[in-house]
Amino acid sequence: MILLDGKIASAETRKLLAEKVSVLKTKGHPTPHLAAVLIGNNGASETYVASKIKNCAEVGFQSTLIRFTDDVEETELLEKIKELNEEANVDGILVQLPLSKHIDEEKVIHAITPAKDVDGFHPVNIGNLVQGSPTFIPATPYGIILLLQHYNINVKGQHAVVIGRSNIVGRPMSILLSSNQPYGNATVTICHSHTHNLKELCLQGDIIVAALGKPGFVTADMVKDGAIVIDVGITRVEDVTAKKGFRIKGDVNFEEVAPKTSYITPVPGGVGLMTIAALLSNTLRAYMLRHNLNEDIFTT
Ligand code: NAD
Repeated sequence: MILLDGKIASAETRKLLAEKVSVLKTKGHPTPHLAAVLIGNNGASETYVASKIKNCAEVGFQSTLIRFTDDVEETELLEKIKELNEEANVDGILVQLPLSKHIDEEKVIHAITPAKDVDGFHPVNIGNLVQGSPTFIPATPYGIILLLQHYNINVKGQHAVVIGRSNIVGRPMSILLSSNQPYGNATVTICHSHTHNLKELCLQGDIIVAALGKPGFVTADMVKDGAIVIDVGITRVEDVTAKKGFRIKGDVNFEEVAPKTSYITPVPGGVGLMTIAALLSNTLRAYMLRHNLNEDIFTT
């Protein structure tokens, strides 16, 4: 079993990005800038946003955190997004999900201009993804692709079983894996809460991507020998022995599944770190497009 180590792979992506930012600065270009919008003070969201901001600093990006209280009016939030859309020196906008119940998530996602939608959730970007056109790939599935590429794993012709069909993870993951792209060409089965015979389907998977948000759901009896297992799940599970009072658990029962696999991601230290690396890559892409720059700038 080989660990698909998000720490190593994400560090490599960040190093490449930092080198590019340094070239841009040397050549007198402005700094790529990510604006993050955080509503309320949900513990997990606070942690994710703090980590994204920290990673921006590490690669030399500028970042701005815009905070709203839980009771922010939807109109106020939409107004801020409009402002960020128009702000010349902002390249990427992310609104940390989930939002408070009184805010229409779809409206917020649609309000972000596709050119700055570095989370890749806007229908225009999702449409491009479906058609195989250049786009901002949603950060988590993109991070998984970067991780597979880092370990030279080719999924062509393999059977991938994706558990979960959310717009941010499962569904785009299934599209990427089945796409006619160098990182795709797998045969994909997408499973969800109404799937019958989930265990039998999983047992057919050369690759299993677990993205359902149920800690320890995938057990050893669901995984065939030599499978590649990608664990997307992040759930806080109460643990009085832990300093923070909780532990992060993935959707895979790592201890019993790992010995059966050829490759497996740990949680934490796997997909989560890659998600942030992918978000930063998308931000640089947004910057390059907005400034009419291409990769030549890094080689000439
Ligand atoms: P979601 O709740 O939007 O979707 C869950 C999906 O799982 C649904 O499509 C549902 O049909 C399916 N599902 C639920 N129970 C099932 C069952 N018993 N059998 C089969 N399918 C079932 O969740 P999400 O936003 O896609 O997130 C999934 C998990 O991934 C969560 O733990 C979340 O915290 C985590 N996540 C991690 C990252 C990361 O960076 N690592 C990013 C996003 C989400």
